[in-house]
Amino acid sequence: MTIETLRAAVRGDVVADGEAGYAEARDGLLFNGRAPDRRPAIVVRVACVDDVQATVRYAARHGLKVSPRGSGHNFSGIALQDGVVLDLGALDRIAIDPVARIAEVEPAAKNGALAEALGAHGLAFPTGHCHTVSLSGYLLGGGFGWNSGAWGLACHNVEAVDVVMADGRLIRASATEHPDVFWAARGGGPEFFGVVVRYRLRLHDLPKAIRTSLFFYPIERAAEIEDWVTAAMAVVPSNVEFTTHFQSAPPFVPAVGKVAMCTPTVFADSEAEARETLGRIAALAPAGALAVEEALPMTFASLYEAAATSFYTGTRYAVDSAWSVQPAHVFASLAASVAAAPAPHAFALAVVLPPAAGEAGLPDAAFSMAGPAFGAAYAIWDAPEEDAANVAWLRDAADGLAPGRLGHYVGEADLERPGWLEACYAPEALARLRALATLHDPLGVFAPGARPEAARLAG
Ligand SMILES: Cc1cc2nc3c(=O)[nH]c(=O)nc-3n(C[C@H](O)[C@H](O)[C@H](O)COP(=O)(O)OP(=O)(O)OC[C@H]3O[C@@H](n4cnc5c(N)ncnc54)[C@H](O)[C@@H]3O)c2cc1C
Repeated sequence: MTIETLRAAVRGDVVADGEAGYAEARDGLLFNGRAPDRRPAIVVRVACVDDVQATVRYAARHGLKVSPRGSGHNFSGIALQDGVVLDLGALDRIAIDPVARIAEVEPAAKNGALAEALGAHGLAFPTGHCHTVSLSGYLLGGGFGWNSGAWGLACHNVEAVDVVMADGRLIRASATEHPDVFWAARGGGPEFFGVVVRYRLRLHDLPKAIRTSLFFYPIERAAEIEDWVTAAMAVVPSNVEFTTHFQSAPPFVPAVGKVAMCTPTVFADSEAEARETLGRIAALAPAGALAVEEALPMTFASLYEAAATSFYTGTRYAVDSAWSVQPAHVFASLAASVAAAPAPHAFALAVVLPPAAGEAGLPDAAFSMAGPAFGAAYAIWDAPEEDAANVAWLRDAADGLAPGRLGHYVGEADLERPGWLEACYAPEALARLRALATLHDPLGVFAPGARPEAARLAG
């Protein structure tokens, strides 16, 4: 069976290394301009689920590894592997059943497209904060989206998945069918051992009033800000998302250098509720803010517009994250790191979860690493010759989070670092994921970079 057999078997494009169009097929795979130095032997741009099945069977027969790619937004570039990259980019259909309050989405459907389509029906989903990220890897790794405090993680709103398994079979996995595959697909991320080709999602009512307040402070006031955020999160309802960004001052803020931008957003049932909740948060705010804008009316579209200002397509990124039991340390350490960042676009975010989130515990799924506080650092720069300085800054910032750190979030972890992938899961969940991978993918067709023992088995 040659590559021509594969070409004949799939409707989409098959591009092998050395062929015309290869550079375009490979170079367009990742969001991060700082791509790993890997060259897939073949890139298959699938046109349908049959193409996924044919490619997986071909790869298994030829001892090739398969790496599914949603939109290539994982900052560590892990979708780009040396074997066969299965580019799912064309599988992006969204079907909504407003009566059943269910959406069936193909993996490469984007967060923004889903939010917009649902909004037309008065519905919503905890879509991620960036409209261009596909649901593919976002849902598979967990998914921290808008209003996750009230709606839960995105993966906890998945009712079923359609998966192409390592032998090319297409199965549906849910709480009652192939429950072990369903367990793994909700948080397994790069440790997953199949290709998700459809997600079935449980939907929510579109909030009637979304409002955000903005408070800017000098970055040196991180400790007071953490006190405020922790106090506020202990008393506000779960429909509040309260993020602090440490970053360069935007032009409209009367400050030079770096600031803390604190943004409580409420996803409420009424304008009165939104204003009342934001009023309670404002009442606890430290005095002496550099700038304040209160209770700005938002929509999902304007939330996406605001979030997009932090990211620039085509530039270079290094990113890491940490779950921590020490919120005060997360705020202080990230503020100090950003104050010393070599590039002006570098930023960090810090979040305190509501106390109830920890008490409730996590639903039983592969997503198994979380804590009372979350922090993430983002190095962002343009010139390749500045890679070393920026990666070094990012790793220092990440190392600064070590006291109190429980682990990382797989969607935004520096997966090039040894041990980081493993620390994205509770140890027992990782052991279960790897045992399931050995059972369902004994040849190690999937994720060679992520699962060393699978690579060994196949090797
Ligand atoms: C600008 C930006 C903003 C972000 N914002 C958020 C946010 O708000 N909340 C959040 O939780 N995360 C966020 N992320 C992280 C993002 O959700 C994850 O990195 C996610 O993996 C990206 O999805 P993707 O489909 O592009 O994954 P890819 O980079 O394409 O793939 C990532 C991994 O998942 C595997 N994979 C992808 N799709 C499939 C599939 N269908 N079947 C099997 N394996 C698959 C790949 O093989 C690879 O190992 C953000 C990332 C960026 C770049």
